[in-house]
Parts: sequence; structure tokens; C-alpha cells
Amino acid sequence: MSKEVQTIGVLTSGGDAPGMNAAIRAVARKAIACGKNVKGIQKGFMGLLNEEIMDMQRKDVSDIIQRGGTILRTARCDEFRTEEGQQKGADICRKHGIDGLVVIGGDGSYRGAQALAAHGINTIGIPGTIDLDIACTDYTIGFDTAVNTAMQAIDKVRDTSSSHERCSIIEVMGRNAGYIALWCGVANGAEDILIPEKYEFREQEIINNIINNRKKGKTHHLIINAEGIGHSTSMARRIEAATGIETRATILGYMQRGGSPTCKDRFYASMMGAKAVDLLLEGKSNRVVGYKHAQWVDYDIDEALSMQKVIPEYEYETSRMLAI
Ligand code: ATP
Repeated sequence: MSKEVQTIGVLTSGGDAPGMNAAIRAVARKAIACGKNVKGIQKGFMGLLNEEIMDMQRKDVSDIIQRGGTILRTARCDEFRTEEGQQKGADICRKHGIDGLVVIGGDGSYRGAQALAAHGINTIGIPGTIDLDIACTDYTIGFDTAVNTAMQAIDKVRDTSSSHERCSIIEVMGRNAGYIALWCGVANGAEDILIPEKYEFREQEIINNIINNRKKGKTHHLIINAEGIGHSTSMARRIEAATGIETRATILGYMQRGGSPTCKDRFYASMMGAKAVDLLLEGKSNRVVGYKHAQWVDYDIDEALSMQKVIPEYEYETSRMLAI
């Protein structure tokens, strides 16, 4: 039997996401409630290699659950992609007595967690990304806040777009995934939703759609464009030239990452943080926490990374029908 974990480290890595603080708080509070020590590692794997490590007490995670961003800060670290970097990271964990580690981040961060597990540090991943692009889970920390922030911003653009009888292209985040665009497209009643998983570059169809809708009396035309397609400004220029209808592009950008997390993000992130500690206390390693079919689950990281996430066909088809 391996020795029970005594000191749990926690770090956030990759892009920040609202709700990460709730997860950090849950890791710390659950571990402390179970009689364990907690160490916060600043700035992801980079901070680990620089030994930016601090003891965390109960009060260190007070008053953070409602805050966006991550109190531990986050970073990307190329050195950690190397074998030497990973060995150094594991040695530093041992030096600081960290025998269990929780990594909150996207699938890149899971690879770092996997490497540490291979070097003997019990490591658990938690999905922290606004993009919802992790296959082993139906929920990722930050997505709910990001789509609500984007939805509210799009409502505002829609108001002015209707008043001026404009066509609006609104670009939302999501990197190569179209989940934020799909959800906002449906929630904002967009006429066109462009997502990288399904995009066929049929711009003429969009142009025809705009012209037909105008003939039918629609005062605005809202196109939600995913970051993974991009080029919103040049698309707006082409559409305006082809339709004669004033067309503006709005790129929402980083505002979607910030802000106070929604209730859902706070709640789910709290459950995931607690679950990660449970797994470590059960002696598990190289696993990720997920939410699948209304259950809190965990998967082997290798298995989780080999899964493919696809846009649900029913959701996509429905989004198109509702846009008629
Ligand atoms: P997001 O979805 O927000 O981009 P992410 O976790 O996928 O989050 P990445 O930049 O891909 O973001 O990864 C974060 C960090 O994880 C990297 O900077 C690096 O330190 C570590 N990492 C990524 N890939 C690997 C790898 N193959 N091996 C070891 N560490 C890795």
C-alpha cells in the first residue's frame, strides 16, 4: 500500500476561467477538513519550476469564490514540455513535501499532470477552460459564465443593430471549438451560427440569407462567428459590399474570460475540487475529474486525452432550424 497523501498542492494552468477560484477553495477546504496540508503553487507549471509555492490555510481561500480569474495566477510554460522540466517539477514537489497535486486547466495542462504522475507525484486534473473542449466531461469550469457574459453583450449589440437595421457579426471565443458560438447563437436567436466543426465557407449562402430576410422584413441580421473561424472584420466588409446593408463586426474578446462566476460555475467547480481531493485520498493518480450523464466521474488521463469531442448533431441541426 502506498503511503497516504499528506500534503496536497494545487495550481491553475493555461487560460484562466471564471470558477477556478471556487475550485481552488474547494481543494483547500476539503483537504484541510480531512486533516491534510495544502500548498498553493503560483503561475502554473512555471511557478512550480520557480518554486513559487506557499502554504495555504483556511483563511487564504476566504472571499474568493465570487471572484473571476485565479488567485494563484496562471501561465504557460514551455520548459515543462521537456523531460528535464518534468523531472525538475517532480523533484521540487518532493522537496516541498507535496505528494498529491491538483492541476486545474485544459487538456494541455492534463499532459503536464500526466508527466508528473509518471514521475511519481500523485496527480489529478480538473477541467478548467471556457471553451468546453474537453471530451471526457459535459462541463468545464468557466463555460457557463463565459456564455452568459457573451449572451448579455450580444443582446446589447442586437438592440443597436435592430435600431439601425444593420447586419452584425459577433465573434466569440472558443479557440478551435464552437461551443460558445453554438450556445450563444441559440440563446441570442442568431440568424447564422458559424462554428469551425461545421463551417463550409458558403459565404454566398449567408449573403442570400441576409437579402431574403431583409425582403421578409427582418430589421437585423445577427451572425455569431466562432474564434476558430475568425476574419470577422473582412467578412463584414464582403457582406456589406454584396448586400448593400451596413454590416459591423464586433469581436468580444477577453471580456468573456473575466467577471464573477455564475452560480453553476461556483457550484460545479466546488464539487470538482472536492472530488479531486477524494481521489487523492483514495490513493489515485493520473486521473481527471469529469461530469458525465449527471454524475461526478473520473477517468484515466491517458483515456481522457484520447477521447474525441464532437458537437452534438441534434443541437446543431436544431440551431439551424430555429434560425429560419
Ligand atoms: P487552455 O484550454 O485554456 O488553453 P490548456 O491547459 O490546454 O488550457 P496549454 O497552453 O495547452 O493550455 O497548456 C498549459 C501548460 O501545460 C503549458 O504551458 C505547459 O506548461 C503544460 N503542457 C502542455 N502540454 C504539455 C505536454 N505535452 N507535456 C507537459 N506539459 C505540457
